[in-house]
Amino acid sequence: MPMRLEILTAEGVLFDGDVDSVVAPGSEGELGILPSHAALMTMLQPGELRYRTAEGESYLAVHGGFMEVRSDHVIVLADAAEHVDSIDAERAEEAVRRAEERIAARGADMDIERALASLRRAQVRVRITRRRRQQGHSP
Ligand code: ATP
Repeated sequence: MPMRLEILTAEGVLFDGDVDSVVAPGSEGELGILPSHAALMTMLQPGELRYRTAEGESYLAVHGGFMEVRSDHVIVLADAAEHVDSIDAERAEEAVRRAEERIAARGADMDIERALASLRRAQVRVRITRRRRQQGHSP
């Protein structure tokens, strides 16, 4: 029996459908979810979330948030998330450079938390596009 996975971000519903499995970057490490999994609620760290459907495996960058599992229903509420195919790798690389420059310059008006969060998001995007595109995956 499949599970229902919903991935919600501030911008709307990124995915809503039946899946066979989910692997998510939980705050304590990678978490694999199969049907009939025990109920749980966890924070997510920025990283890769993948899910498998009859069509194959799909890969997403998720940038924090949390996940709830209850009765074969997985809800991911992410601060932001993108499917690997919709990530603009050049934009992410540019964002890494910008964030690094901003942090290195240590401007008096720099919001360090914001700069680090932006760097982390961009690094996750770069890492996931590199890993998945090199492997020739096309989710
Ligand atoms: P940038 O500095 O490149 O705008 P950002 O970290 O400020 O990156 P976010 O605030 O995390 O961007 O995201 C804003 C929106 O843009 C979100 O919808 C996010 O999914 C999307 N987004 C950000 N970077 C990319 C990217 N490299 N490829 C595709 N979508 C992206």
